[in-house]
Amino acid sequence: MSPTLAFIGLGHMGAPMAANLVKAGHRVRGHDLVPAALDDAAQAGVEPAASAADAVADAEVVITMLPAGRHVLELYDTVLPAARPGTLFVDCSTIDVADARTAHERAVAAGMRSLDAPVSGGVVGAEAATLTFMAGGGEPEFTEARPLLEAMGSRVVHCGGEGAGQAAKICNNMILGISMIAVSEAFVLGESLGLSAQALYDVASTASGQCWALSVNCPVPGPVPTSPANRDYRPGFAASLMAKDLGLAADAARAGGVHTELGLRAAELYADYAERVGATEDFSGIVRTIREQSGE
Ligand code: NAD
Repeated sequence: MSPTLAFIGLGHMGAPMAANLVKAGHRVRGHDLVPAALDDAAQAGVEPAASAADAVADAEVVITMLPAGRHVLELYDTVLPAARPGTLFVDCSTIDVADARTAHERAVAAGMRSLDAPVSGGVVGAEAATLTFMAGGGEPEFTEARPLLEAMGSRVVHCGGEGAGQAAKICNNMILGISMIAVSEAFVLGESLGLSAQALYDVASTASGQCWALSVNCPVPGPVPTSPANRDYRPGFAASLMAKDLGLAADAARAGGVHTELGLRAAELYADYAERVGATEDFSGIVRTIREQSGE
């Protein structure tokens, strides 16, 4: 029999993820602080709960999709005493590795089991159930959560012990943030040298410069018609989220004494850029800042 689920945090990502669990035949009790989010989720078959504690009371698995680490830790403090012993807590939010480990410790201390399982794939992936899940925690917890994650995604990777999912997420996004800046700088340099964007794309996308930032999310309009650059940089993956993830990577690097020179610089550049555009632009729009700073 499929387990009863609680889903807390029914925002841009959580709402479609919870809806996909309902579609897969699960009973999902949901909660969000915003009443409109709860109403929308109810339209998709999620049973609205008046409080988070109420949502988790008879759940076997509790899934959270919240903005940041402090929200997850505050919520855990509220709901851990209300859950049945042995309940599996699966946090899909993107949070600090240290916060993820603290959440895990608090869950275990309260007699629960826990997994961190952040995602990549954005709202489009959440709606289409094609997210990639990066999980951290014990093998039994991963095995139990796997069918639920597969109902919301197309790729599920067990990355290691507690916090390993968050570690994989921020390391991947550090590669992405740095490579988007590298690709953007190359296009602006190419423009100044009289090279067409198409010519640079034709060479680099099949040569050693090939990467996702170039061949899927190309920051200039034209070469990849589906990239956000062709719709005036409408997200996609919002600049503010990239700034957040690079900030988490920078914090982790500083805490561990790891020398990530480009990662730290990318975090600074995205923090400045996101301060101006927030969530209104795709992260590839940073190419415009580089062009402006180059006087072009
Ligand atoms: P969002 O702000 O749209 O949704 C978060 C929801 O949590 C909101 O509806 C908010 O009301 C609710 N919430 C906050 N505190 C709560 C509490 N104590 N109890 C109940 N509900 C509460 O954010 P999102 O875009 O859905 O992102 C969620 C997480 O997923 C973030 O950690 C983000 O970094 C990560 N993420 C987002 C994307 C994306 O493209 N949006 C992609 C990958 C990962």
